[in-house]
Amino acid sequence: MKHSTNSSELIHPLSGIKPFLAIWISAIALTVSPAATISPVADKVTPVVPDRQDFQVPDRVHLSGWVGMRIEANEANRLVKLDPTRLLEGYRKRPGRQSWDGEHVGKWLHAATLSWVYTGDPALRQKLDYVAAELVKCQLDDGYLGTYVEKDRWTEWDVWAHKYNLIGLITYMRFTGNLEPLPTCRRMADLLCRTFGDGPGQRDIIKAGEHVGLAPTSVLEPMVLLYRLTGEPRYLDFCKYILRAWEQPNGPKVVSTLLTVKRVDKVGNGKAYEMLSCLNGALEYYRTTGEPKILEACLNAWADIVRNRLYITGAASYGELFHDDFDLPNVANVGETCVTVTWLQFNAQLLRLTGEARFAEQLEHVILNQLFGAQRCDGSAWGYYVQMEGKKPYSSTLDGHCCLSSGPRGVALIPTFAVTTDANGVVVNLYDAGTAKLTLRDGTPVTLTTTTHYPGEGQIRLAVDPGEPKTFAVKLRVAAWCKSSSMRVNGQPVTVEAGPDGYVAVSQKWKPGDQLELQFKLEPSVVVGDHKNQGKVAVLYGPLVLAADEALLGTATHSLSAVSAAGTSVAALGVEPEPAPEAVKFWPSAEVFRINAVARKRTGSLKAGAPLQIRLIPFADAGETGTSYKVWLPLGLASSSGNVLLDGQESRSRRGNVDGSIIDEDVHSFVVTFNNQPRAEDWFAVTLDQPEAISRVVFVHGQTFHDGGWFDASAGKPRVQIKAAQDAKWETAGELKDYPATTAADPAGLKGGEAFTCQIPQPMTVFAIRVLGKPACGDNARQAFASCAELQAFNAHH
Ligand SMILES: [Zn+2]
Repeated sequence: MKHSTNSSELIHPLSGIKPFLAIWISAIALTVSPAATISPVADKVTPVVPDRQDFQVPDRVHLSGWVGMRIEANEANRLVKLDPTRLLEGYRKRPGRQSWDGEHVGKWLHAATLSWVYTGDPALRQKLDYVAAELVKCQLDDGYLGTYVEKDRWTEWDVWAHKYNLIGLITYMRFTGNLEPLPTCRRMADLLCRTFGDGPGQRDIIKAGEHVGLAPTSVLEPMVLLYRLTGEPRYLDFCKYILRAWEQPNGPKVVSTLLTVKRVDKVGNGKAYEMLSCLNGALEYYRTTGEPKILEACLNAWADIVRNRLYITGAASYGELFHDDFDLPNVANVGETCVTVTWLQFNAQLLRLTGEARFAEQLEHVILNQLFGAQRCDGSAWGYYVQMEGKKPYSSTLDGHCCLSSGPRGVALIPTFAVTTDANGVVVNLYDAGTAKLTLRDGTPVTLTTTTHYPGEGQIRLAVDPGEPKTFAVKLRVAAWCKSSSMRVNGQPVTVEAGPDGYVAVSQKWKPGDQLELQFKLEPSVVVGDHKNQGKVAVLYGPLVLAADEALLGTATHSLSAVSAAGTSVAALGVEPEPAPEAVKFWPSAEVFRINAVARKRTGSLKAGAPLQIRLIPFADAGETGTSYKVWLPLGLASSSGNVLLDGQESRSRRGNVDGSIIDEDVHSFVVTFNNQPRAEDWFAVTLDQPEAISRVVFVHGQTFHDGGWFDASAGKPRVQIKAAQDAKWETAGELKDYPATTAADPAGLKGGEAFTCQIPQPMTVFAIRVLGKPACGDNARQAFASCAELQAFNAHH
């Protein structure tokens, strides 16, 4: 349906695409178009702050390029596939399988409704009607629609579940026009209004959930929406109560902190997903009331995140929290997808409210990199933590992770802002092939047809068709990464400067048949790492962040840890795009990017320092086949440090559940021996192909967890053992004398990245080295494990 009659121009022949993709595209082509355009149910309350850019009903915009394929895959392979019984089980049989399981159904209703509006898929509509009706039946007499049993109410995640049920049902009502769930929504909201407040006998909402109250108070967003939909003043009063509660002595101080300290890591406990959820509600409140301080606080949060706390891919947290300035390790539960989606929503809200291109810039960046990086290319699965290196943790279920129902919401929102309208005319925020049937604010219909393989190529053709000749502006976003661009209107070159809103506006009398041609020079750029990425580089091509991927290393170089970048400049790296090989061709114009590299250590037949070429892949497609990937590439020869183990093979006593490396000279990438079992001894080893003389061994601690991760030194410090010949037995060469006096339960203040040394009195020639000790159990004596970030060995000269 997305592919119009000239689809051959837009899409390469199917023969050039992976088989699963071909099947999937033909399945999409069978989807039924919506019969008529959808008119959302109108609000009773008009916002005080009108939107600068309009929210597009998704059926107006149909995308058929890379972005469009990801949106359709989200519907066809994810949203329509989820089992309603699973979505509703916690409500039908309280308390459900876990404490926040109630959030999934509302998140699904939100994403699936937007997605249905976009595709018009009757199967999805049927499922939506069923789930909405069944959810309504689960409401208790007093209005409660959470998954908790009565005695446990309002203790953890049930205000949160009400939030998502309100968001889901309000979205469903707005776009289907079926208002049957409205009494359910009112009764939910009335229950919240009765239960929480600062009046006599009412509960404190800050105490009704996690993260200094950020979780429960994020119900602000749908309470504002319900106020606008119903005109019920007590819902607005409740929103005002939430703003007061934020500033209570026990509250997260959201607005006051953002107005004064202007740092998101200082708000509440810094929990990113819950905080951004609150800020999205705050912007809905600002739209409704026009309170300027609220917008100012949100803009301060945005500026702080962009400047100090954003990963190169658009991810925005590790360990689910905002941290100190530039404290952005590559692995440490980095890039929670819920944060990616709420960050996307935050930018989409700010874009609507301000009409400024800088927010669209962030949207393109987070969508094409982190969001698509978290979505499996065929749309069937999502990742929880999608880190800067490692493996993509795709899951096709809903079990265990909040992100599995958040990811689809982000993708389903894309058509609401990709191409839109404002007071001056049409605004193009994302460049993807497709058609937008827009209505200007004066009622003029305008069809905008985009032909492009972007971001696989920089040429974009826009056919502007107003039906009748009409004067208006077409606003285009020229991305900040683009150093060279040109524009033609009906073949004639035009030069236009970006306006104060950041858009280039072409204002003229447009008539049917008019063509706008844009040429963005797609070129590589290199980001030289600082802070935690000192000594590393990341490579981008146009808007795409690239990554090295085991899948593309070939036979000469099997391991990512064996490869480093050949320099810090585009010239030294010699970045060249080429069509993606079949195995990683996840969309028709997919490309990979050849760069100059250096063998970082002996690998296959290559000596350390040997030049080689590797191919990088967009982060969005990296690790799709289960391989390891890495965004930040080390520079030059790590062996110049003198660490002789870089040429070795690493191993450990137990596989564990963290995929780092102990020979990548990166203390943030570590390994553990955790497998939930006790064990008398654990070890971390490196084996060499050729003997090396060593006089010093360094062990770098991985990470201290509540339930272990260190060595218990109560019966002796960790020992260093060596093998003097390939087939020799391990012999003890010394111990880590400066290792702290830990016990099984007490890490003695040990911190991740701390290094401990063993001096070998007489230099020894070794084939293998290991550090051995008793793993610690922390607060869970039924198991024990150790961790290691690096194992290094040096000869006397270093
Ligand atoms: Zn999550």
